[in-house]
Amino acid sequence: MGSIWLRELDVWLKDAGLDCEGWPGWQTRSRSSGGFDGVRGIVIHHTAGSSRTPDRDTCRYLYERADTRPIGNVFLARDGKVWIGAAGAANCQGKGGPVMTSTGTVPRDDGNRWMFAVEAGNNGVGEVWPPAQLDAYVTLVATLCRRLGLDPMQDIFTHNSWCQPSCPNRKIDPAGPTPSHPTLGTAGLDRYGRPVIWRHDTFRALVVAEMARTEVIPEATLQLGSQGPSAWRLIEIMDAWGWRKQARPNDGKFLAAEIDAVKVMQAALGAPVTGVYDEPTEAAYRAFGDFLAALAAAQPEAA
Ligand SMILES: [Zn+2]
Repeated sequence: MGSIWLRELDVWLKDAGLDCEGWPGWQTRSRSSGGFDGVRGIVIHHTAGSSRTPDRDTCRYLYERADTRPIGNVFLARDGKVWIGAAGAANCQGKGGPVMTSTGTVPRDDGNRWMFAVEAGNNGVGEVWPPAQLDAYVTLVATLCRRLGLDPMQDIFTHNSWCQPSCPNRKIDPAGPTPSHPTLGTAGLDRYGRPVIWRHDTFRALVVAEMARTEVIPEATLQLGSQGPSAWRLIEIMDAWGWRKQARPNDGKFLAAEIDAVKVMQAALGAPVTGVYDEPTEAAYRAFGDFLAALAAAQPEAA
């Protein structure tokens, strides 16, 4: 039996500003295998349910009535509200994998024990995804990555991409038009009139950007080989100040060009020049931020 239960989910989500509500019994609900064996990844889904079904009816089905209940750990409604259904392992992923994650392999057909599942309300045959739901989707997954120590660039999968290694195209979800987030599912249907299947790498990029946006100053140490939201944020900062010679777009990877950029940053801030974003560099940047904040506070209001 798995021993990992995410009983602070409601606190995490509220803390991130999400509207959420626990479905009665969520803290102790799981599939027959109990808690998670570990949480190595997050899989995003759509329900394929009608937009006319009330959210409470959907939750009752997912968590109380379905033969394979609980289906998914949370239900993301079309208005962006997150209904929490199961703190332990849920049924949802089915056949698929194996996939590599930042913390190890998720074995073939064993996704339920090792990965968190989000079910989002969408009929999957062309219903347009509302912006509030998509914003909440990104915030939700970014919050889970941060709280669970997951790397969004390696640990987020669509149900479609989970299936690809061993049973390609078994599932299409999530799919469908996302006009407010055109990198995901594009603005409409494909040329055959089918909903466009989301690519996990574009969803990952949105989550990385969200984590960077909500993480003001990255913590040391970042160095050659570092990657993920902290590295993404450091590069964003260095680009904003003109410290990085922009060899390539920000991909969240600390490569040779970033060693040079950190040296420029360190020289500008009066920190020891090491090419590693280390604790003295982090401290110097925080002091620089404090100085700028004080300067801003001392300025008269612009008319
Ligand atoms: Zn699915």
